[in-house]
Amino acid sequence: MKAFRPEVLALRAYSMEEPALPVKANQNESPWDWPKELKREALARLAATPFHRYPAFRGSRLASLLCERWELPEGSCLLGNGSNELLSALFSSCLCEGRTGLLPSPSFSLYRQLALLSRGDVREVPLSEDLTYDAESWLDALDRVRPAVALVCSPNNPTGSLLSLADLERLLDRAPGIVAVDEAYGEFSGIPSAATLLPGRENLVVLRTFSKAWGSAALRLGYALAQPRVTEQVSKALLPYNVSPLALALGEAALSRREFFEGRVRDLIRGRSELFEQIVGIEGLRAYPSAANFILVRLQNLEAADVHSALKSRGVLVRDVSAHPALRRCLRISVGTPSEDAAVVEALKEVVACPAPTSMP
Ligand code: PMP
Repeated sequence: MKAFRPEVLALRAYSMEEPALPVKANQNESPWDWPKELKREALARLAATPFHRYPAFRGSRLASLLCERWELPEGSCLLGNGSNELLSALFSSCLCEGRTGLLPSPSFSLYRQLALLSRGDVREVPLSEDLTYDAESWLDALDRVRPAVALVCSPNNPTGSLLSLADLERLLDRAPGIVAVDEAYGEFSGIPSAATLLPGRENLVVLRTFSKAWGSAALRLGYALAQPRVTEQVSKALLPYNVSPLALALGEAALSRREFFEGRVRDLIRGRSELFEQIVGIEGLRAYPSAANFILVRLQNLEAADVHSALKSRGVLVRDVSAHPALRRCLRISVGTPSEDAAVVEALKEVVACPAPTSMP
């Protein structure tokens, strides 16, 4: 084990609980698979792909289509094997010993791991007590810490909180380095993407994914938008042919059905409001307003681990996020189909009204 870097040995590997239960509300996936006819069409595109050749080196058609969709110049879009790969490339192209990555807290746990693997120092900006972004503390931290990269997750996982574009502009004006905005859940927020600020903003990188609103987590397809001079630098930290031509072909098929997937996003947002209302109506629960496809719930008296396992025994899998000190007694619940949401509410009512005995210390 001596061969491994101390920071690697010190990390806990990212992992996921995966029991097959009737309601899977733990990973913020789309509750709907692609329609069969779209799968057929996508597979036809795939069949037209030559399998014996390497794919286009970088300038794939999908990247060009995304530049068009975002009205950005060619070269502004970098594709990744999931948006996480681009985040990793961004950190490894900017961070090193003596440089700092500034992260929100609580947020997506992978950020910290990737920043540490890049040998960067990590500093965190806490969310406010109500788990919203506090722009003033970010401005203050930018001045104090002078980070090479400041990463904002908006809407934030697991709180669902948003940083407004006006506040983001203040951060961009003040930041000494890159400001990256992870918009993995951006389509659910109802506000314009930070990508609309890209013309004229060389220090902005926006990360987006096909995994959530596009119902395509299995494809492993994400993208970064930035000015071409910036994508050129980040691309140096990516391996050649990082995105499979299989994902490219299927991603193009998804993109050709933008209106269909936008309709699903509207349905999900409607479901989110209904689920939120139902949860706040249950005594003993607090729900945080969310701009994403999940809702953070705080239990007033019960322990998250107990409720998590009681829900599991009722066929409902949610995410226990209570390990973070600011998220004590908190669970994160992905919005599902109306019938899945109804099952979640039913199970929550049962468990919270009639809790299992609290585990012994
Ligand atoms: N960013 C955030 C904030 C996420 O929660 C997730 C999914 N857990 C991702 C990125 C993952 O994106 P991808 O599947 O594109 O790698």
